[in-house]
Amino acid sequence: MTDLSYLAENLAVVQDRMKKAAERAGRKLQEVKLIAVSKTVGRAEVAEMARLGLRNFGENRIADAEEKFTSTTFENIISGSIEDTAPTLHLIGHLQTNKVKRAVALFDIIHSVDNLHLAEVLDKQAEAVGKRLPILLQVNVAEEASKQGTSVAELPALLEQTLEFKNLEVRGLMTIAPNFPEPEQARPVFAQLRELFEKYRQIGPQWSELSMGMTNDFEIAIEEGATLIRVGRALFLPQQAD
Ligand SMILES: *Cc1c(COP(=O)(O)O)cnc(C)c1O
Repeated sequence: MTDLSYLAENLAVVQDRMKKAAERAGRKLQEVKLIAVSKTVGRAEVAEMARLGLRNFGENRIADAEEKFTSTTFENIISGSIEDTAPTLHLIGHLQTNKVKRAVALFDIIHSVDNLHLAEVLDKQAEAVGKRLPILLQVNVAEEASKQGTSVAELPALLEQTLEFKNLEVRGLMTIAPNFPEPEQARPVFAQLRELFEKYRQIGPQWSELSMGMTNDFEIAIEEGATLIRVGRALFLPQQAD
């Protein structure tokens, strides 16, 4: 068996960095949920992270998630453990409408809703299976041509329309910052998403999530108000001693 002990070390380092970032911002650590982005790893790593206590996992692709997040991945971990809550699965990658049925069957929340047609198809599928589906609207704050997401200019209309869907629960906003050489450069992007988020507070208590920050920039995102950070490499890559 492969030695997965580096995962516990990675997790401890990430949690310590989260704690320090929250302290710097005068926030409570419990306000920030760590989503382990497991897209590059397999079942064994996912199971080990679950054993270490993580209950939020993020995937980009439906097929990968279907293969990894079978009930048996978690069965042994969850039965008999103290914290026996089922994992929450986050879809963080682009979703094509022809995969909506599978996505709604598997995922607990979709971070990547960025157009009205997708929201419409999700609403219909959520209705068909009788669930109220939590979603976030993905905003391309930095207006990068290569990135998904609605533009800042189009957000108000998209938000107004998605709030009409009875089977969707619109919980907040998500963004991916450009891959800057310095994490600090992401700060204005995160600050802008937080301002947009605060502008719509009147939506009510369901409006509660700000999904921003990845391996390179999650500390800045926490300082700027993230409630969900999506971390892959810092958790799952064996770290080199340098
Ligand atoms: C891969 C991915 C992440 C995690 O990225 P890391 O740099 O590995 O932490 C977060 N969010 C999205 C949308 C991703 O695709």
